[in-house]
Amino acid sequence: MLNIDNLHVKLEDEDREIIRGLSLKVNPGEVHAIMGPNGSGKSTLSYVLSGREGYEVTEGSVTYKGEDLLEMPPEERAAKGVFLAFQYPIEIPGVATMQFLKVALNSQRKARGEKELSTPDFMRLVKDRAAKLNVSQDMLKRPVNVGFSGGEKKRAEILQMAVLEPSLCILDETDSGLDIDALRVVAEGVNALRSPDRGMIVITHYQRLLDYIVPDFVHVLSKGRIVKSGDKSLALELEEKGYAEFTQDAA
Ligand code: ADP
Ligand code: MG
Ligand code: MG
Repeated sequence: MLNIDNLHVKLEDEDREIIRGLSLKVNPGEVHAIMGPNGSGKSTLSYVLSGREGYEVTEGSVTYKGEDLLEMPPEERAAKGVFLAFQYPIEIPGVATMQFLKVALNSQRKARGEKELSTPDFMRLVKDRAAKLNVSQDMLKRPVNVGFSGGEKKRAEILQMAVLEPSLCILDETDSGLDIDALRVVAEGVNALRSPDRGMIVITHYQRLLDYIVPDFVHVLSKGRIVKSGDKSLALELEEKGYAEFTQDAA
C-alpha cells in the first residue's frame, strides 16, 4: 500500500537534510509505530506524506497503491484515502463538528467522482460511528475543537477518521500535553479502526501509547533514519534502555 524508498528531505530554504534515507513499507492490515527522540524527524515525515509546503524531497520515492504520492496535491491524497492526524488540531469557531465532518466527507466523495451523501444518510453514518467511539451527541454539535479538552480533540480526530474511512492512517502524536485520557482515546480509536484493508502509522514519542496499541512493527527513528525495526517487543526494550542505546550509531 505504502512504499517509502530511500527518502531524503530537506527544508526548502535551508540545506540541512532532515530525513536522510528512510525506507518503510506498510501493507494493508498492518500497524506500524515510529518512535524516536525529539527532533529525529518524525513530524517532518508526516508533513511530507501529507504534502505540506516548505519541504523538498531531494532523493527517493513514495508510492501509494502503486502511484507516486509525492506528485499528488494534498486534497488528492486525502480523496484517495490517506488520512493524517496532526499534533495541533485547528479550532473552527462557528462550524459544528457534525457539519465539518459532512463537508470533509462529501468533498472527498466528490473528488472521487462519487455521489454526495444526503443529510439523513450522513446523520446515520456519523451517529453510528460516534456511538462506536463513545462520542456524545453534544460534542457533535459543538464548534470544531473550540474549548475541547485534549481527550475531546483526540476523540473528534478519531471520529473524523472513522467517518472518512481512509485506507492509510498516519497519526502524529505530540511530544507533550497528551494526558493518559487522550492516549487511551487514541489507542481505543486506532484499535477500533484496525482492519485487514487498512494500514496505520502511529508516530509517537511515548512508549506508553504502545501499552494500549499493540503494533505489528516498531521502528526507531534517529536523525532522519530508521536505525532499528522490530516487533512490539522493541517498544518494551526502548522503555527499558531509552533511545541512547539505539541512536548512538546514527550520527
Ligand atoms: P520530531 O517530530 O521527531 O520531534 P521534527 O520533524 O519536528 O522532529 O524535526 C526534525 C528536525 O527538523 C529538527 O531539528 C527541527 O528543528 C527541524 N525542522 C523541522 N521542520 C522545520 C521547519 N519548518 N523549520 C525549521 N526547522 C525545522
Ligand atoms: Mg518534536
Ligand atoms: Mg514531532
